[in-house]
Amino acid sequence: MRRFGAMPVVDDVSLSIAAGQVTCLLGPSGCGKSTTLRMIAGVEMPDRGLVRIDGQVVCGDGAQIPPEQRSVGLMFQDFALFPHLCVADNVGFGLVHLPAAERARRVAALLERVNLPGFARKYPHELSGGEQQRVALARALAPEPRVMLMDEPFSGLDNRLRDGIRDATLDLLKETGTAVLLVTHEPDEAMRMADEIALMRDGRIVQRGAPYNIYNAPVDKAAAAFFSDIN
Ligand code: ADP
Ligand code: MG
Repeated sequence: MRRFGAMPVVDDVSLSIAAGQVTCLLGPSGCGKSTTLRMIAGVEMPDRGLVRIDGQVVCGDGAQIPPEQRSVGLMFQDFALFPHLCVADNVGFGLVHLPAAERARRVAALLERVNLPGFARKYPHELSGGEQQRVALARALAPEPRVMLMDEPFSGLDNRLRDGIRDATLDLLKETGTAVLLVTHEPDEAMRMADEIALMRDGRIVQRGAPYNIYNAPVDKAAAAFFSDIN
């Protein structure tokens, strides 16, 4: 649970996400999706509640594990690459504890993986939006997180590129067995990408299930209306 002032903006949210699956946290703007994701990441503190990752309580019950030790990767709409660092240094940023040769090897493998071989020495401003997105993915994957938290990461991309990048990104994450929590306010994105949808409204999860179950049997009129403009 999280309040801002007197108002709880996230309340009674219980969510479990499985390895190798995409769980979509879907709901209208302002319903508390980003706040939920930030609490899981550890950059926002819940007033009450528990976060467990891979069986370990990382928040609550007296535990407060900092974000960098939670085995979570983060991707946002704003890729926030470091503009003064080349692609290789952006990707290797979270691997500074490794010896240089090992780090370089890992970075090269990650760039292959996101299909950007030969981009190591380029700078973010030399890349297209789609390429920057793939660098951000490689950077998020570098520490091999168990959980990838994605807050509307595709919404800044041009429509033409978006589907391809979104499919490739989520396929790659599923292959690596990462548990993915994808936040979106777009029902059609959730319908396409989710193995499981958690439908959120006013700080609560009102329904969860497989996309077509939710689509075919929405919990109430508001949920039905929310899905009504998909074709
Ligand atoms: P969503 O991501 O679903 O659009 P958010 O989690 O960003 O929703 O926000 C949920 C509610 O909490 C909104 O009403 C928002 O204005 C409010 N809120 C979010 N962060 C803060 C904050 N740091 N201080 C005060 N209110 C906040
Ligand atoms: Mg948000």
